[in-house]
Amino acid sequence: MQRIRKGLYLLEAAGLSNCFLIEGSRGLTLFDTGHPLAAPRLAEEIENNGFALQDLDQIVISHAHCDHSGGAHGLLERRRVKVFAHPGDIPVIQGRERSRPRTLGLRLRRWLRRLKGPYQPIGFVVPVGQGDSLRSLPQWQVLHAPGHTPGSICLFQPAEKALLCGDALNNRAGRLALPPPSNCHDPAQARDSVRKLCALDLDVLGCGHGPVIRAGAGLKVRELVAAL
Ligand SMILES: [Zn+2]
Ligand SMILES: [Zn+2]
Repeated sequence: MQRIRKGLYLLEAAGLSNCFLIEGSRGLTLFDTGHPLAAPRLAEEIENNGFALQDLDQIVISHAHCDHSGGAHGLLERRRVKVFAHPGDIPVIQGRERSRPRTLGLRLRRWLRRLKGPYQPIGFVVPVGQGDSLRSLPQWQVLHAPGHTPGSICLFQPAEKALLCGDALNNRAGRLALPPPSNCHDPAQARDSVRKLCALDLDVLGCGHGPVIRAGAGLKVRELVAAL
């Protein structure tokens, strides 16, 4: 676990995708849950770093892809809390619809991932949308950033100038980038969403993949948008 700012921590147990733990007024919020096999390791990481799973108050899912939503089922077996996501992605999270990867390569990757651990849907998901604030996290706002998926959301805390953006942006190998068009539900919409995020006063940026940008994130996002 890495401390990013007061009350904001990066959980590393999910491996290739980032999950964040946020301390709030009523307990802990988990933003993203890793892949379907991540739950035991995430629970262990929380417990081994001075927190208790019993203090988990809610889970927020950035988007329906199973490397972000897949661990939720296993975590809910350990601690039953409310799960929040955007209505645009809830049908996939609940298993009522399937996401349709656009390329053969992505379809193959999903198939290989499912061999490792099948996605288990979440029965009840509470919808959240643009501008909402969450129970126990009044200082954080939900921002809708569609394009990568229809219901991709970010969490933004203006006071700390911190943005957790799921896969709206990624920082793989320390290189800030948009998700590739082949991995977007609507690539033009994904670009528009990043242009909107660019207007935020940002210092810290936690993407769904890659290292957290701990300072000066606004400049990096502006440089990226200028090159679009
Ligand atoms: Zn994704
Ligand atoms: Zn991802």
